[in-house]
Amino acid sequence: MVDPQTRLDKMLQKLRQRNFRITPQRIAVLKILAFSEGHPSVENIYEKVKKDFPTTSLATVYKTVTLLKELNEVLVLGFAEGSNRYDGNKPYPHPHLICTKCEKIVDPDLASLEDMTRELVSDTGFQIINHRLDFFGICPDCQKKMD
Ligand SMILES: [Zn+2]
Ligand SMILES: [Zn+2]
Repeated sequence: MVDPQTRLDKMLQKLRQRNFRITPQRIAVLKILAFSEGHPSVENIYEKVKKDFPTTSLATVYKTVTLLKELNEVLVLGFAEGSNRYDGNKPYPHPHLICTKCEKIVDPDLASLEDMTRELVSDTGFQIINHRLDFFGICPDCQKKMD
């Protein structure tokens, strides 16, 4: 995990450069994203922010997340079914491990990814600019519940 405080500072800095008004609600959204290990959806973020700031609207959360997306400060994971999920801790392409039962999403440490990328480049001559690598399965917690 990237140091969440460093991520939060970076996000704030970028938003300030854009003259975006930094309200306590917006800081709360940024914090959740910077500290996010679980890849929350906008709805998840909204539920959490609302506990401390009951007047927050879903639109405020959307607006903040959309701006961060434009600034490349959040990684968006889109799914055909269900809501987009967001990673504000690691806003660059990286592999994900997705539980199909509880929809938990984790970041695996995959040392072989660099080798794989190098192999692809040398085999195909492509210049790789992005990737999307999702592994689907059943997490240990859900496996326990099944037996
Ligand atoms: Zn699970
Ligand atoms: Zn991630």
